[in-house]
This record gives sequence, C-alpha cells and structure tokens, in this order.
Amino acid sequence: MRIILLGPPGAGKGTQAELLSKKLSIPKISTGDLLRDEVEKKTNLGIKVKKKIEKGELVDDELVFDILKKRIEKNDCKRGYILDGFPRNINQAEKFYKLFNNDQELVIEISLSENELVRRLTSRRICKNCGASYNLLFFRPKIKNKCDECGGDLVRRDDDREDVIKKRFKVYEDETKPLINYYYKKGNYFKINGEADISEIFKRIYAIIKNYIEKFAERKSDYLQNK
Ligand SMILES: [Zn+2]
Repeated sequence: MRIILLGPPGAGKGTQAELLSKKLSIPKISTGDLLRDEVEKKTNLGIKVKKKIEKGELVDDELVFDILKKRIEKNDCKRGYILDGFPRNINQAEKFYKLFNNDQELVIEISLSENELVRRLTSRRICKNCGASYNLLFFRPKIKNKCDECGGDLVRRDDDREDVIKKRFKVYEDETKPLINYYYKKGNYFKINGEADISEIFKRIYAIIKNYIEKFAERKSDYLQNK
C-alpha cells in the first residue's frame, strides 16, 4: 500500500510522514529529497537533474519518474511507502498509477486555511548563524530572538512574508484542487483538518489508515504487527 500525503507547504506533511514512517515501518519518500540526493551522489540521473536546474529549467516528469521508480523498486518499499510532495497534478497521478498499479493507494490531505497558514509561517524564525529553525507559536527559543544552539540572531525568511505565503497558497490550491477531485472520485481520498496539534493530527491519520487496512484484511496482519 502506498500513502499519499497532500497539503499546503506549512501544514506539517513532512512531520506526519516521519511519524507514520516510524509507526508503520515503511519508508517516507519525498521527491525533493530524492532529487537532491541524486545530485549530491552525482549519479547519471543526478547529473541530468543538475543540468536542468543550472539552465533554470524545471525538472520534467520523465526524470522525476525515473528517480522515483529507482527508489520504489528498492526492497524497503515492498510493504509500502509514504509519498510526501508527490504527485502534484492529475497527469503525474495517472502516470504514477499506471506504473505501479498493483498497490493500494490511500490519499490523505492535511488541510489548512489561508489565515492559519499565514499565522504559522510568519511565526517561523531561523538562526542567521547556524540555520536552526524555530516557531514563535510552537517552538520558541529560550531567549527571545536568540538561537538556543549558538546564540545567533533569529530572523524571518524572506519568503515567509504574508503576500508571498498567500501566493504560494493560491498556487497550491490551483494545482491541487483538480487532483483532489480526481482522488475523491476514485474513493480513496480523506481530508484532515490541520488546525490541531501534531499528535492529534497523527492520531486521526493513523485511525484512517487502520480503518483502511482493516478493509483489506489479507494485509492487516502485515501492517499491524509492528504497532
Ligand atoms: Zn544558531
């Protein structure tokens, strides 16, 4: 089974993917991380990606699929995996389904209102010196505006401004709405309100997954034995 996590940047997808990965003992796969990894290791695919980026071009689907396929064919994905940040549109979703259609597919969206997203992201601070990140809402530094690790000054990232966040949210919505519609029609889409704390959201996601797995009883023992 594969679990696809959707949600706007800032909704906490990465954190939930990490928690799920531990709980279910299946890997989480972020296409962004995969691309960076290939570039760093200077693989054939990585060199192609780097050329694209250097020319200022978008990394095309073809290349993303090649890299994704290579990752998913590894042994640790046999029991399933969690996708974070992919697919982004219907084309990718359909192509992906065709390539790996043997798997069960469960789609969970962590949704967040634009206002909440602005509130969260404008509260983010990073250390100018070491890059450590903080959030004035959930993860405050011990001393105001100073990094716990190195004492450096905390600043807001340039793109964590309200207007930029709103623009990002709009792009996400425009891109994702058709995709959500597509999964909704397939009947494997679930939505979770992301305005709760991390452990509460995790509980809800896990309940959906458990429920889903129980429907496919033949796979149940496989997934729950690690619980
Ligand atoms: Zn620091």
